[in-house]
Amino acid sequence: MRALFVSADPLGQVQFVQAQLQSGAAVGGVGVEELQAFVEEHPRLLALSGAGISQHSGIPTYRDAVGVWKSNKPIQHGEFIRHHATRQRYWARSYKGWPNVANARPNAAHIALSELEDLGYVQTLVTQNIDRLHQKAGHRKVIDLHGRLDQVICMDCGETVTRADVQDWLAQNNAHLDEIKVTAAPDGDAQIEGEVLNDMQVPSCFRCSGLLKPNVVFYGSSVNKEIVNAVYDQLSQVDALLVVGTSLMVFSSFRFCKFAQANDIPILCINEGLTRADDMLRLKVLADCGSTLQHLAQALLVRG
Ligand SMILES: [Zn+2]
Repeated sequence: MRALFVSADPLGQVQFVQAQLQSGAAVGGVGVEELQAFVEEHPRLLALSGAGISQHSGIPTYRDAVGVWKSNKPIQHGEFIRHHATRQRYWARSYKGWPNVANARPNAAHIALSELEDLGYVQTLVTQNIDRLHQKAGHRKVIDLHGRLDQVICMDCGETVTRADVQDWLAQNNAHLDEIKVTAAPDGDAQIEGEVLNDMQVPSCFRCSGLLKPNVVFYGSSVNKEIVNAVYDQLSQVDALLVVGTSLMVFSSFRFCKFAQANDIPILCINEGLTRADDMLRLKVLADCGSTLQHLAQALLVRG
């Protein structure tokens, strides 16, 4: 059955996993005291974070506790590269959604993870989030598994520019967009439709006029192998994998649980809902990430 998780079609894969989760059994949750005791015995951690961490910073998630899509279908990599209309839709929505991400502040979960790094527990943090809130919280060793939304990259010459500069360009060339009211959606996206999109001017590389793409991994694309191997390497050097605020629906992150299991590295989890790895967990705290991590960091600090 497990081989079915590996699907060439990301959307088909997600739908299959949803069916698994709704019929599968979650492991029972434990308290933060048991988590603390386990961490004291397994002090070197690799933390893997997801959208649940950034929810309390005002960045909405794609999925609810049982993994059902909350919003509209996300942008597909191939469609973005091939179709001008897709890029018009992306940049129009992103123009509206970006300020929400740019102005977001780290919350208790980001700060507590940073404290756990300072205390010497979290060796490496791998995040599926593209909002850079871990770095804003002062976290130093972070691997951005799915890229970073504050950067835009040229698909032709590889030049990177800041998202802030692209935002300025979009504003100067699409003044009418400011008149449109929208609601924020996941990953800096926003709901926007209609004829205004036909007039949308999309940015191109300031150096070679090539195709610009946010420096993130869209659905239908894959994470750079060097990054994946770097995570495997880091994971081989820790005592436990700590999963926080993610249902692990995407294979790009779930594979680290498979690696941990294959190498007898225990997996701990703090998440309010079900996860795809529930039957692989050594210990799970079914609670809010922020307060749980705060308690853990405080308890470990007091203990010295
Ligand atoms: Zn270029």
